Amino acid sequence: MIPAKCPEWGRVSDCLTGRTIPKPGDVSICIYCSGLSVFDHTLNQRPATEQEKKEIYASPKIHLYLKVVQEARKRLKDQGIQDE
Ligand SMILES: [Zn+2]
Repeated sequence: MIPAKCPEWGRVSDCLTGRTIPKPGDVSICIYCSGLSVFDHTLNQRPATEQEKKEIYASPKIHLYLKVVQEARKRLKDQGIQDE
C-alpha cells in the first residue's frame, strides 16, 4: 500500500484506493476532508489548482465520488465514530 498525504491537512492515510500505483495527473479525494489533490511527476500529492478543480468538478464521476465520501463522513459523525 502507498501512503497518501493530504496536501490540505497534511494528514496521512495508510492507503489509496483505485489504482494500486497512481500515475502523474491522477486525482485523489481525501477521505478525511474531501479535498482534491493531484499526483505530480514524483507521485507526491499537491493541491489541485483552480483550473484543475474546474476540470475535475466537471466530471460526473468525481461528483459521485465526492458525494460518497461526504456521506460516509456524515454517517460516521452521526454515529459518533471518531477518526483514528
Ligand atoms: Zn484531507
